[in-house]
Amino acid sequence: MNFSPGPAITSAEEIIRECRALVELLPSQALARARESRPGLRGFGVFPVYAPQEIIHAAGLMPVGLFGAGAKLETTRADSRFQSFICSIARSTLELFLSGDLGRESGFEGAVFSSICDVARNLCSVAGRNAPGVYVEYLHLPQNAATPAAREYTRREFARFRDNLAGRVGRPIDDEAIRRSIALYNRVRELICELYTQRQERPGSIRTADLFAAVLAGTCMMPEDFVPMAEALLASVREHAPVPRDTVNVVLEGAFCEAPPLDLIDAIESAGCQIVEDDLAIGWRIFRKDVPVEGDPVAALADAYLAGSAYTSVRHDSTRPRTRGLLERVEASRADAVILASAKFCEPALFDYVLFRRALDERGVPHLKIEFEEKMWTFERLRNEIETFTESLLFD
Ligand code: SF4
Repeated sequence: MNFSPGPAITSAEEIIRECRALVELLPSQALARARESRPGLRGFGVFPVYAPQEIIHAAGLMPVGLFGAGAKLETTRADSRFQSFICSIARSTLELFLSGDLGRESGFEGAVFSSICDVARNLCSVAGRNAPGVYVEYLHLPQNAATPAAREYTRREFARFRDNLAGRVGRPIDDEAIRRSIALYNRVRELICELYTQRQERPGSIRTADLFAAVLAGTCMMPEDFVPMAEALLASVREHAPVPRDTVNVVLEGAFCEAPPLDLIDAIESAGCQIVEDDLAIGWRIFRKDVPVEGDPVAALADAYLAGSAYTSVRHDSTRPRTRGLLERVEASRADAVILASAKFCEPALFDYVLFRRALDERGVPHLKIEFEEKMWTFERLRNEIETFTESLLFD
């Protein structure tokens, strides 16, 4: 695969095909692809929702998003270590550790988890205990982003992560390297944001399943390679003249951690929904503004996380209820309805559902709840359910 600038890949179809092929790979295979042009490159796993990948990149590593293993892996070993009522991303991520896919021999230096839920917390320690020699790091993100102490606390936590990682790779991660990585990831986020704007303002210019494939592909390639690919995709999307169709504009909410199967997104769109906003892989595009490249880069990342982040239900802010974030998302995207799509057994999403449902009912916004998991083979029942929902709104 060649995502370098040049004439090799120019059409949106071709880029999306490559992205879809890339996201089908296991982390070790994606890293091996990146190593074809960067021999010796090592990877570092990033479990959703957020970790400062700039620090990982500045350490000379490739940050690789850990969104589970889809249907690519049998989770036999992980099943024996987890109870049955647990989300599938936790199960398949543990299997990746136990199978060695995320091990040193596969080229991985380690992985980082953060305090999004009890499952992620336990997964970090279960992975560390059951995959000896694998370096796992746990980021304690602030439980209240609005308190005055949160700024210094978060800066120290990110600095601790930097120091530990530097010790692991055996060389310092200096400020200048982090600033260069911040500038690069600013460009990555800017391009993703522009693709999202195209989808919202020119419905049909890019399908959400394709946009999601591109964003996910960006989590398993070097950002230096993602930028020219996304630029070519954006140019192609801008040129594409969408065909208007009767659809219901929806916000897709709840998939902030585990990645739903692309076939599920396809099913939602083919059932008559135009997804105009979503929280898919939100940690990789979380900042709404560029992170400053001047001054202390670790403090800049901490500040951006606290004050410049998109709302997600795992980022706690006592001054800004989650329901407000969702309602703002609905208003800003001029959506007609909300599809609350959450991973099976995802506790944060289930807690959110209670609050979201009440807030949407009070505002008179129609909504539909669906569930997904990695090993879903058939989407016909869900498609029928969504079609019925869509038609009830279109022909009301
Ligand atoms: S899917 Fe939900 S429960 Fe599972 S790790 Fe993610 S946030 Fe936690």
